[in-house]
Amino acid sequence: MDRREFTKLLGSMGLALVPGKAAASHPHGPLADGVGVLVDTTVCIGCRKCEWACNRSNNLPEEELSSFESKAAFDSYRRPDASHYTVVNEFKPNGEAIWAKTQCMHCEDPACVSACIVSAFKKRSDGVVAYDLSRCLGCRYCILACPFQIPAYEYDNAFTPQVRKCTFCIERLDEGKAPACVSICPVECLTYGKREELIELAHRKIERNPDRYVDHVYGEHEVGGTSWLYLSSVPMTELGFPDLGTDAVPCVTETIQHSIFKNFIPPIALFAFLCQIMWLTREHGNSDDAEKSDTVDAYGGGDEGGTAS
Ligand code: SF4
Ligand code: SF4
Ligand code: SF4
Repeated sequence: MDRREFTKLLGSMGLALVPGKAAASHPHGPLADGVGVLVDTTVCIGCRKCEWACNRSNNLPEEELSSFESKAAFDSYRRPDASHYTVVNEFKPNGEAIWAKTQCMHCEDPACVSACIVSAFKKRSDGVVAYDLSRCLGCRYCILACPFQIPAYEYDNAFTPQVRKCTFCIERLDEGKAPACVSICPVECLTYGKREELIELAHRKIERNPDRYVDHVYGEHEVGGTSWLYLSSVPMTELGFPDLGTDAVPCVTETIQHSIFKNFIPPIALFAFLCQIMWLTREHGNSDDAEKSDTVDAYGGGDEGGTAS
């Protein structure tokens, strides 16, 4: 077990101490009206305009287009952080460059929602996983829980640190617009729409172009399904995406929480039982002392003590 897995386990165990949350259940399965984005990595040209549009739309610090035109960003693998909700990385699994955009996957059964003990993360009915700063305690369980290692914490912000991740451009969605990254993409690598329709579209694309794509829609089933879906010419694991099972992470963490919590009950009951015995013993001891004291008094003993002679 590595350090991250160990920290995650500790996080899960910590959650088990919160009775209300341990007993809570998470939403199960894809939402009927959920929206999503289909990312066709075979179309992406690595222009990074989606990164720029994201920063501009979310008032993130770096907003100059010129700073996103540099290809030096591809020299090392990058992750989304508190100042960049999405990043594009370059991969060359077979010699040819393939670019893949990364951001919060807006999971159908989000581990971050399940992990948050104060419901600062919520899965909306349209599929968006939204964050409410006013509720956040800063415990960072969400960061530990996310299987895609997405949420980032503003360690540099001493007074009002927030957990940061892709917002799915909620304000734009609520106005009936597509997310900023989707709108700006010059080659229609990103398609926004109903998740169910995007899955159908993805399978049609695979069927029509079996030589172009691997026969897999990443996100259709991973960790119970995600709102962001990917098509690729190589397995997504070769583009920096984790190989995750189809079980939703909350199912796993909640099972652990529930079993730990269940196993907590016998020790707690035993502790209460022992406390009661201690209390009874002390009460009994006190009454014995009182009787002894009465007896001593009756024989003329006192506080002065002394030895029998
Ligand atoms: S990718 Fe991570 S942060 Fe985004 S919804 Fe899923 S669990 Fe939450
Ligand atoms: S949906 Fe909005 S917040 Fe998310 S990556 Fe795209 S532009 Fe950024
Ligand atoms: S804007 Fe479109 S083509 Fe350009 S990097 Fe982003 S996803 Fe790829």
